[in-house]
Amino acid sequence: MITDSEELDTGVDDVIRFENVVKRYGRHHSPAVTDLTFSVRRGELVALVGPSGCGKSTILRMVNRLVEPSGGRIVVDGRDTTHVDAVTLRRGIGYVIQAGGLLPHRTIRRNVATVPRLLGWDPAAQARRVDTLLDLVGLDPATYGDRYPAQLSGGQQQRVGVARALAADPPVLLMDEPFGAVDPVVRDRLQNEFRRIQTDLRKTVLFVTHDLDEAVRIADRIAVFSGGGVLEQLADPQTLLSAPASEFVVEFVGSDRGLRRLAVTPVRAEDLAKPLVLAPEDGAAYAATALDVDRGDVAVVLDRGQVAGWVPRGRLREAARSRDGRVRDVVRPFTATVPDRADLRTAFSALLAQDAPLLPVLDERGGYVGALTADVVHTALRRGVGNT
Ligand code: ADP
Repeated sequence: MITDSEELDTGVDDVIRFENVVKRYGRHHSPAVTDLTFSVRRGELVALVGPSGCGKSTILRMVNRLVEPSGGRIVVDGRDTTHVDAVTLRRGIGYVIQAGGLLPHRTIRRNVATVPRLLGWDPAAQARRVDTLLDLVGLDPATYGDRYPAQLSGGQQQRVGVARALAADPPVLLMDEPFGAVDPVVRDRLQNEFRRIQTDLRKTVLFVTHDLDEAVRIADRIAVFSGGGVLEQLADPQTLLSAPASEFVVEFVGSDRGLRRLAVTPVRAEDLAKPLVLAPEDGAAYAATALDVDRGDVAVVLDRGQVAGWVPRGRLREAARSRDGRVRDVVRPFTATVPDRADLRTAFSALLAQDAPLLPVLDERGGYVGALTADVVHTALRRGVGNT
C-alpha cells in the first residue's frame, strides 16, 4: 500500500523510473552514470546496450540497491527505492545474472525455492512452485530437481537462474547479461524461450546485454548508452536501426544495421510482388505469351487457390514447342513458403535457400497472398523511418 504522499505522483504506467540519477564510485572519479532520466512501462522489456564500461550494470544494480545512487532517485512501482528496506526490495525484484549465479552446494530445487523460502511459504507451496517453474523453463523437475548445478550444462543452469528469479512472481526482473556465458546456438534457443515466457508473463524487465542482435531480438525498446552512463537514444528496435539519433548510435549499431533491420521488419502484403499466376492445366503456349506480356521471368502456379509451384520462362517456352504442352508438365515445387506474419529475416533466408527467385507468402489459411523477391526486401527496408 502506498502511504507516502510524495510517492503518489507516478500517474502513468511506469514501473521503473530513473529521475536525474547520478552515480560516482569515488569523489575523484568521473561519473559512471550521468543525470539519467527514463522509464520502463509495465510489461515492457527494455534492453540496455553500449560499450563495455559505459555503466549498464551500474544502472541495473541501482534498481535493487546493490549499488546506491549518488544523486537523483529511482522509483519502482510507485515507491522511491531508498524508502524501502533494501532486503525487502530485493525479494520483490527478480535478478538473473550470467551463468545463473546458482549456489553450487544446493540442489536445483533449493536454488529455485530461495526467495519463496525466505518469504516463509509453506514447504508444499514451495515444492509446487518449483515444479511449475522448472516446467516453464523446459526442465523436467523429476529429472533435474535433485541434481546440483555442476551436473547441469551452462544453458540448463541459465534456465534455472531464470526460474529462480521468477519464483516469487515478482513484477520486475533485472537481467544482467543472462545469456552471455553460453554458446551461440544455446543462446539462440534461450532467447526464443525467454521471449515465449515473457509473452505470457509480461514482466517489467531491464535487460543488460553487449549483444545488439540479442537486444533487437528480444527488446520492446532499446536504450543505447555512451561512456559515463549517458543515454544516447531510447527507441524501439525498428526506429533505433532506421533512425539512429546521434553519431554515437550510428557508430554503435554499425554499418550492417540494414541487415539487423530485417529481423524487426514485418513482411507486408502491400509490398509483395504480384507475378503472373497460372493454372496447371493452362496451355504452355498461352502461358509463355502471357508471361511475355507480363514482362516477367517466372510465374506462380496456383491449383484451386493453393500454391502448386513456379515456372521459369525458359521451361515454358520449351513446353510450348509441343502442341499440347501444359503448365503442369514444367511446374516446379517451391521448397519453402512463409506466413504473412513472418519477419523479413526469416522470409529472406527462406528465399535464399531455394532455387526459385521468389517465395510465396501465405495467409493464415494457407491462401496465396503474393511473392517475396529480393526487390521486395529492398523496398520494405528502404521504406521506414529516415532512410539514411
Ligand atoms: P558496463 O556494465 O557497461 O560494462 P559498469 O556499470 O560495470 O559498466 O561500469 C561503469 C564504470 O564504473 C566503469 O568505468 C567501471 O570501471 C566503474 N565501476 C563499476 N563498478 C565499480 C566499483 N565497484 N568501484 C569503482 N568503479 C566501478
